[in-house]
Amino acid sequence: MDYLPFTKPFLDDATIQGVAEVLRSGWLATGPNVAEFESKLSEYLGGRIVKSFTSATGALEVALEVCGIGPGDEVITPAMSFAATPNVIMRVGAKPIFVDVDIVTRNIDLDQVERAITSKTRAIMPVHFAGLAVDCDRLYDIARRHGLRVIEDAAHAIGTSWQGRKIGSFGDIVSFSFHPNKNMTTIEGGALSLADPAEAKKLDRLRFHGIAKDEEGNQDVVVPGGKYNLSDVAARVGIGQLAHLDAFNEKRRLLAEHYLDRWAIEDCLLPATGEGHSWHMFAPLIPFERLNLDRKAFIGKMHEQAIGVGIHYPALHLFSLYRKQGYKEGDFPNAERIGRETVTLPLYPMMTPADVERVCSAAARILKS
Ligand SMILES: *Cc1c(COP(=O)(O)O)cnc(C)c1O
Repeated sequence: MDYLPFTKPFLDDATIQGVAEVLRSGWLATGPNVAEFESKLSEYLGGRIVKSFTSATGALEVALEVCGIGPGDEVITPAMSFAATPNVIMRVGAKPIFVDVDIVTRNIDLDQVERAITSKTRAIMPVHFAGLAVDCDRLYDIARRHGLRVIEDAAHAIGTSWQGRKIGSFGDIVSFSFHPNKNMTTIEGGALSLADPAEAKKLDRLRFHGIAKDEEGNQDVVVPGGKYNLSDVAARVGIGQLAHLDAFNEKRRLLAEHYLDRWAIEDCLLPATGEGHSWHMFAPLIPFERLNLDRKAFIGKMHEQAIGVGIHYPALHLFSLYRKQGYKEGDFPNAERIGRETVTLPLYPMMTPADVERVCSAAARILKS
């Protein structure tokens, strides 16, 4: 039996050929392919300014810096996400303020966001979890009323729409990831989408050594910038991926619907569906405690059936780093329940409906025994 990992990227032959050409060209670092990738991504996002990065983690960190967020500032973010989301807030010296997520959508609870705003709050950093958009009308209404920046962690949400508009085609600063596990890849990489040309100029400097050039091309260094520029090799992968993105996401949607159709175990909380969902993951919550089964044992048994299962994600506030900030068990019950019960099942464009059925029957056999 073929092993089904929980995710797997697909690179077509034209892209592999294209990468070989870049490798032979002698121009490996940032060059014409990065320019083309950014321009195509901008076109995909309705003409917004797009800046590519070596990772979404780097992109998010620079986004915070561009907003001038640092020591003494608070940023409100969900208690259930990948560690990169709160870590970057800490890295710029600001304080992540966790709030719980909604158990159905698994997105940040916007009622709790409003209640968490203080005089120190500078920004909201939501996550479009698993590719399902946060309620952007409500999010931006809150931000406007309180004068806050919004940095959207859209690592799961390239191709996601909110009410017919693509995430990243509107809003404040939006960050995408192109890690191989995401809906499209540049091997490692990320991008920011933003609206303000003056901030884009600042971003350029923070992304590359703080170097500023005047009209005559004279160099100056104006800030202690970092080093986050994408390579042309990576960008060529991205150009090839972007051409397939909508088809990839449509395949994901069909496979997710097949899962919802075929999942036959009672008392599981299945992922929420919704218009514009890009189905980055398919992750039911399984009541392991009630079933008297250990999640590790379940994952081990699935592995014996040649099926990979991931965990996305443990509650952030229970990691040592965040417990040291004063967070504790019981603070965010939904994030904690997701942390205990979530399993990420295989979902990627090259899977077939028969693969989905294989996963569903293996899970049913293990959970019912
Ligand atoms: C993957 C991921 C990131 C980080 O992306 P990298 O490109 O690996 O740095 C950030 N936030 C979330 C929610 C992610 O899933």
